[in-house]
Amino acid sequence: MLLASVVIDINSKEVDRPFTYIVPDAFSGQVRTGSAVVVPFGRGNTRRRGYVTQLFEGKETPERPLKEILSPDEKALSHTEQLVRLAVFLRERYGGTLYQCLSTVLPGKTEVKARKPRVFEFLCDESRRREEYETAVKKKYYARMRLLEAFQDRRVLPASIVTDRLNITASTLKYFTDHGLLRIREAEDTAGLSGTAAGKPRPVLNREQQEAVEGIINDPRPVHLLFGITGSGKTEVYLSLIEKVLSEGKEAIVLIPEIALTYQTVMRFYERFGDVVSVVHSRLSKGEKIERFKKAEDGELKVMIGPRSALFTPFKKLGLIVIDEFHESSYLSDQTPRYSTVETAAERASYTGAKVVLGSATPSVEAFYEAEQGRYGLHRLNTRAVPGSVLPEVLVLDMRKELSSGNRSAFSGALRERILDRLVKKEQVMLFLNRRGYSGAVSCRMCGKPVSCPHCSVALKYHADGSLRCHICGFRRPMVKECPECGSKLIASFGIGTEKVEALVQQEFPGARTLRMDADTTGGKEGHREILERFMNHEADVLVGTQMIVKGHDFPDVTLVGVIAADLSLLVPDYRSAERTFQLLTQAEGRAGRAKKPGECVIQTYMPEHYAVQAAAAQDYELFYRNELLYRQQLSYPPAGYLMKLVVSGQDASAVKAVMATVAAAAKARFQDTAEFLGPSEASIYRVKDTFREVLHFKTKTLSALLGVKAALEALAEKETEGRRLFYSFES
Ligand code: ADP
Ligand code: ZN
Ligand code: ZN
Repeated sequence: MLLASVVIDINSKEVDRPFTYIVPDAFSGQVRTGSAVVVPFGRGNTRRRGYVTQLFEGKETPERPLKEILSPDEKALSHTEQLVRLAVFLRERYGGTLYQCLSTVLPGKTEVKARKPRVFEFLCDESRRREEYETAVKKKYYARMRLLEAFQDRRVLPASIVTDRLNITASTLKYFTDHGLLRIREAEDTAGLSGTAAGKPRPVLNREQQEAVEGIINDPRPVHLLFGITGSGKTEVYLSLIEKVLSEGKEAIVLIPEIALTYQTVMRFYERFGDVVSVVHSRLSKGEKIERFKKAEDGELKVMIGPRSALFTPFKKLGLIVIDEFHESSYLSDQTPRYSTVETAAERASYTGAKVVLGSATPSVEAFYEAEQGRYGLHRLNTRAVPGSVLPEVLVLDMRKELSSGNRSAFSGALRERILDRLVKKEQVMLFLNRRGYSGAVSCRMCGKPVSCPHCSVALKYHADGSLRCHICGFRRPMVKECPECGSKLIASFGIGTEKVEALVQQEFPGARTLRMDADTTGGKEGHREILERFMNHEADVLVGTQMIVKGHDFPDVTLVGVIAADLSLLVPDYRSAERTFQLLTQAEGRAGRAKKPGECVIQTYMPEHYAVQAAAAQDYELFYRNELLYRQQLSYPPAGYLMKLVVSGQDASAVKAVMATVAAAAKARFQDTAEFLGPSEASIYRVKDTFREVLHFKTKTLSALLGVKAALEALAEKETEGRRLFYSFES
């Protein structure tokens, strides 16, 4: 007989013990995964609503008699069913407990007090505003300037947008309120705020933009790739698509990486659609987020903007999901379930026939491959939308030549010259050092080649015991004395960090004012905003930092971007390292000279012949793509295959190793024909807060094979770790 697992209260940790019910034949066609049903519950058989999370064939036993589902719950909100179904999808695809998956898609039911929104009302007239603005310019009060600019063509702005997104501090506000320029008051409602900038002319779409909009609307395929260079006007395309969706009475979700979720970006949506637009982001309290989701559910909001978690906005008639900069790694969840936002968005969109639009200047190889194969629609924007704006000049500097000509400094002659020039001109410089995750990778200073694993084509990592190890398959060898490629003895791991670069700048350019931004200096999101703010306010000439500085922020006076060592990200032991490098270099180039002044980007490298460096310098995505696809196909990495890893962790290192060994041996024996296993090996960050992590990679040709192996590994790992204070999870 057909049985169903039913969760009764989807906001309770108890859902991992779902209850089994019989599906009466009469409803068997109507009851599906995610369906809401009415069931008799508990001793008194009270009628409760539940959700079906699984259907299976089984039997009732005399020891455990089962109750029958009373009926499908017709009155249930179909969007809740959809979200439950999405949770089931997450669990099958990425692992995790049902509770973890449900709480990913449903934010919970914390009581929220409805608070009245606050607004800032601007009280002075245009001539006074201009006077204040001129004073602010003269005194370089940048925050005041930004606020005065925001009120240029409107009187009232929601407080949340101003303080969250415009980076206006309390002391700046105090100046305005003390001088009677601004009033903060509660709004009865936010109606009337919309269209406050209606006077602003909207740009007429150019031919490429027009074709993209029409192409996406008229093409029946659900997923579309909008491949457009930085500044080509992708956002304008999103705005037109949203307009269409709203006119049909449907809703839209716009995902933007948190770091790019700036005031300017949010305002562009707000200006077009007014108060049906809302934002969620990580600084909101749980209650605030739930409040905004509730408004979306009630139909008060129609457009939700936010990072990946905004994908779960409970809209009832979802028509469009936009994923801007969809290649960003922040779209891979870093908590169980480690879902891919792109895949999950496609799944959610399929429930309502919504479209998914993936926007990027540097699409992931997987997505571009889907488009080439015709499974995604492909729309290109090849020109910058603002007439007269030009691409930056890019210079690739071979550091091996610097070394052989006696320059051992971190700065090439060409970069040093250009930094000096900018300091004289009082323009700003960004120095980018991408060192995340590279640490321990070893490479040759003469030929530039990393010392790689013979099995995995990723860089080996240096360990304190003097060995080099592969963090994918576990291969190890003693540290090399000379380069296996060219025989040079100049072989070492990269030792330079952002702190060192900052010190070098101060040493080589006395008087240059510096700021540094990396995980150490930012101390949470506030620190990060503060540094950007200070750089924006010209409190420094040179900003040194990790990849955080090349993402999403426009500094009009930056005319030079220096990449200290492009190779660092190529050395990361991950099959995506070339792709990440290409993306980061392209983003770094995009930071140079976005406004009127032409910009330059200097890329220093020991591997100038690497295709990722060459393609980035030539600003040629397809050159990169063709080379990268070959590499992926040779090694059956995505898109040529499916890859996932099982992680076993715990505080007892030897128990972790033993459990992983047992699980891996069993899986290898069972799946020798369907999957390729790599490892087990120590994770690239093996020890985190005294927790040890072992990983087992597995590759398959098809997604269904991958899911089969994953389910088996899950069962094995569950059995081996049970009651032992050991944990397991899956990562993509
Ligand atoms: P992207 O999202 O591709 O980086 P944006 O949508 O931010 O690009 O557009 C870059 C700039 O070009 C913005 O200032 C935008 O207002 C402007 N822009 C976009 N489309 C047009 C157009 N059709 N005509 C004039 N300006 C445009
Ligand atoms: Zn060499
Ligand atoms: Zn290997």
